[in-house]
Amino acid sequence: MKYYSTNHKAERVSFREAVIKGLPEDNGLYMPEMITPLPPSFFEKLPDTSLAEIGYNVAQPFVGDDIPEQEMLAIIEDTLNFDIPVVKVEEGIYALELFHGPTLAFKDVGARFLARCLSYFSKNEQQKVTVLVATSGDTGSAVAHGFLGVPNVDVVILYPKGKVSTLQEQQLTTLGQNITALEINGTFDDCQRMVKSAFLDKSLNESVRLTSANSINMARLLPQSFYYFWAKAQLPGRDLVFSVPSGNYGNLTAGLLAKRLGLDIRAFVASSNINDVVPNYLATGDFKPTASRQTISNAMDVGSPSNFYRMLDLYNDEWKSIISDIKGYSFNDDQTRAAMKEVYDRTGYVLDPHGAVGYLGLKNYLKENDATGIFLETAHPAKFKDVVDEVVGNVEVPERLAKYMHEERKSVEMGSNFEELKEYLMVSLEKR
Ligand SMILES: *Cc1c(COP(=O)(O)O)cnc(C)c1O
Repeated sequence: MKYYSTNHKAERVSFREAVIKGLPEDNGLYMPEMITPLPPSFFEKLPDTSLAEIGYNVAQPFVGDDIPEQEMLAIIEDTLNFDIPVVKVEEGIYALELFHGPTLAFKDVGARFLARCLSYFSKNEQQKVTVLVATSGDTGSAVAHGFLGVPNVDVVILYPKGKVSTLQEQQLTTLGQNITALEINGTFDDCQRMVKSAFLDKSLNESVRLTSANSINMARLLPQSFYYFWAKAQLPGRDLVFSVPSGNYGNLTAGLLAKRLGLDIRAFVASSNINDVVPNYLATGDFKPTASRQTISNAMDVGSPSNFYRMLDLYNDEWKSIISDIKGYSFNDDQTRAAMKEVYDRTGYVLDPHGAVGYLGLKNYLKENDATGIFLETAHPAKFKDVVDEVVGNVEVPERLAKYMHEERKSVEMGSNFEELKEYLMVSLEKR
């Protein structure tokens, strides 16, 4: 299987290269050149298939010979060593809870799979790989945990000083081992700029093997399609609609991939907060990226969603075909809080602000359509404790999150210029 760039100006590459490079040089996104539906026998057995088996069947054609069968099975089993339950919230509405991994957000799935693939690819290399990642919160901790203790890989995370939540900072800075957190005196944009400069710097790249754990890496997208099949396996025979609370549209794109692989899904709902460029595109046919606006569902504050170009590619740019599969709705913070409170009071289910946006989109869709609805619950409510406590009362913090609060923070503080980062990377390399 080869991967092409959505901009069609870069060379086709193998899965291995697509994962190591992350992004093609022409600034597009990698897409698999063939998406072949899985055989009827796979779907007949689906209700009796384990999550890891589903993962293997789905991923194998995309990975090909780049990772042998036994290794691939081990990677998938290790990636998905936590539960992804389908929980009934009310009649006809279910939550697909994706937050039972180590950092309590769905990003664990993609980050863990990517980490294990990269580790496999770098196993026989002489030189260590250094993963550089800028984070505004959730991505950094999922990537760090994904790579924790993985041999031959070092992770360097840049985060903006004073601009991540206390819990997020604890998650980033207390791991140790092969994870280093750099506390940057600047904004998230500064962190991102420094990382970009690092990838472009010739002398640095001659000394250090840098790689990115960017959210648009194929190895982060692919495993996110597994759980759509898994959800269907839990609710066989139903006409299913998935509502996906979206920011960069990776989760939704992974769902479209599942449908293209033959999974029977009636429709998708693109649920957004006020960062509504995709619902607007669905309504008008015009895609107008803008600056992002801050909301209580902050992991979805994206004004220029990168995976949108993969969605377009999947549908050959045909707006009419896109809108027959995807409906879009957006909601503001007041509506989100009201849904959290209403659902809690009526059913006892605690939504996090992101899941609440997904729930709202699903409710809108089901007003006019008869189907069984599933919304993706992308984060544990305790991760957004400030908002959740205010709306539904004191939410319990699970032990695996609470434990970080007692651990000692270790980070390296630095200014927001690239030269400082470069010097740090060169010096720490010499110490290995
Ligand atoms: C990243 C994130 C999202 C958005 O997912 P995309 O795949 O970028 O659309 C939604 N909810 C939470 C909690 C997230 O961390």
